[in-house]
Amino acid sequence: MKAAVVHDFTAPLAVEDRPLPKPAAHQVRVRIEASGLCHTDIHAAHGDWPVKPSPPFVPGHEGVGIVEAAGDQVRHVRVGERVAIPWLADACGRCDHCVSGWETLCLQQHNSGYSVDGAYAEYALAHGDYVVPVPDGIDPLDAAPLSCAGVTTYKALKVSDARPGTRVLVSGIGGLGHLALQYARIFGAETIAVDVTDDKLALARELGADHVLDARTQDVAAEVQALGGAHASIALAVSNASFQAAYGALRRGGTLVLVALPAEGRLELPVFETVLNGTKVIGSIVGTREDLAEVFRLHALGRTRVIRETRRLEDVNACFDEVLSGKVSARLVFDLR
Ligand code: NAD
Ligand code: ZN
Ligand code: ZN
Repeated sequence: MKAAVVHDFTAPLAVEDRPLPKPAAHQVRVRIEASGLCHTDIHAAHGDWPVKPSPPFVPGHEGVGIVEAAGDQVRHVRVGERVAIPWLADACGRCDHCVSGWETLCLQQHNSGYSVDGAYAEYALAHGDYVVPVPDGIDPLDAAPLSCAGVTTYKALKVSDARPGTRVLVSGIGGLGHLALQYARIFGAETIAVDVTDDKLALARELGADHVLDARTQDVAAEVQALGGAHASIALAVSNASFQAAYGALRRGGTLVLVALPAEGRLELPVFETVLNGTKVIGSIVGTREDLAEVFRLHALGRTRVIRETRRLEDVNACFDEVLSGKVSARLVFDLR
């Protein structure tokens, strides 16, 4: 089977032939139809973060495809079913995080396309209990970005406490941000979209943002304070400067939700203002299987629109450059059908 493989953090990926993987008793083998390119895959391939993957590895955690083979302990999915392979490849299922609805915090988790091989391939292995069924009627090319960009931003909105009448700033209208903006609207908030490219600002307007700010030319914090300040800022841009602006845009009692993970990510907080303003700063990592099921249900109901362009897996290195240069309309998806 064909797979894109990271051999070295400083070298391009190699698209090569690998043996067809055989599922263990608890695993399924998924014939991948669609595999989204998340900015995290670029961080993984470059070894950007303090905890690094071990090359050689296959990136990809927005994998969608058909279960083709299943080990004899697999109970919850059947051969022939369409499933998503998200970032949370598996967790222990027994720790306090796992049993209290926070499996994404499990210390024993594995991550697709990072600590275990992911979905930049024609076939991928996955844990039968951790794949998430994709409802009929959802295009696999839409399901792929929903499996990380969708579930991550849906969860970020949940933890932000956004609700009707609140004002939510979405910083970075890329793969994650174009969905975050739609969820903020679903949660009933007044929305402010921020980006640094004309195309993304136009996309934000098209998706119904109430206010659109260009961080290249406008003082985001001052503009948002003039509106009354944001109840929540969702930080999705791969830029430390954007974190400061998202923090500075908050009203008293507001919540900064950190999601983006730039290399050397840092945010300096003034303690006095943070205390006096009652500001909350929280990190948010992907979402649970249940969050993803909800994301799929919302999409099946027609509440979200996935903006994506398809590419060939062979072009993976050019695709990384496209994302880094900010030229992508929102998400790139490898079409492996
Ligand atoms: P992306 O490249 O598709 O989108 C980033 C967007 O930010 C682009 O539209 C870009 O133009 C914009 N941007 C750049 N500088 C900006 C600035 N100063 N102000 C406002 N906007 C700016 O990336 P993505 O796939 O959406 O991922 C975003 C980040 O989120 C990455 O760091 C990724 O690793 C991280 N991520 C985190 C989680 C999580 O669970 N916490 C999950 C998925 C991705
Ligand atoms: Zn991702
Ligand atoms: Zn656990």
